[in-house]
Amino acid sequence: MKKVFTCLSFILVLISCKKDSIDVGIQYDIAPEFTVYVNKFYEEATSRGITIARENLIVKANLNLGQTDICGKCKQNTQYPSLQRTVEINTESLTCWKSMPENNREALVFHELGHCLLGRLLHKDDLFNDGSPKSIMISSNSDLYSPCVYVLDDKPELCNKTGRRKYYIDELFDENTPAPDWSK
Ligand SMILES: [Zn+2]
Repeated sequence: MKKVFTCLSFILVLISCKKDSIDVGIQYDIAPEFTVYVNKFYEEATSRGITIARENLIVKANLNLGQTDICGKCKQNTQYPSLQRTVEINTESLTCWKSMPENNREALVFHELGHCLLGRLLHKDDLFNDGSPKSIMISSNSDLYSPCVYVLDDKPELCNKTGRRKYYIDELFDENTPAPDWSK
């Protein structure tokens, strides 16, 4: 009986050691200003039947990016994806987070999570015939589905792109999403 107990404790030690080493990689910590967008990302995944564990993700502001045109980045070890994944958002530059309407902030966070959580490592810069990007994974930050910037626009239907949101989120989760009607 004593022998069995010794064996059991040995197994427990092994498990707990393993757990300790995994904990380093599965830290989940989202800075408050990004929580709403990260939560929306998980909601959009769930509504499409895609389950993504809330683990191994840090989303935080990167003040060192300063006045550059890099608005965000995903840092991960592509060879060992179970190691820490970190999204950094540039909250300092006047052309990035600070000046972005809500929908563009969402698109930026979704783009970075596309890299970090969906395995979409490459950018997709293809355009539709009307000049609109085909994907939220476009390399340059772009107004994909934002509302009109100026309230007094004469023809709001031309500048209001909020109706395009569904297509871009669909395409983020499924690259084979057919081209939407508005692009034809
Ligand atoms: Zn990117």
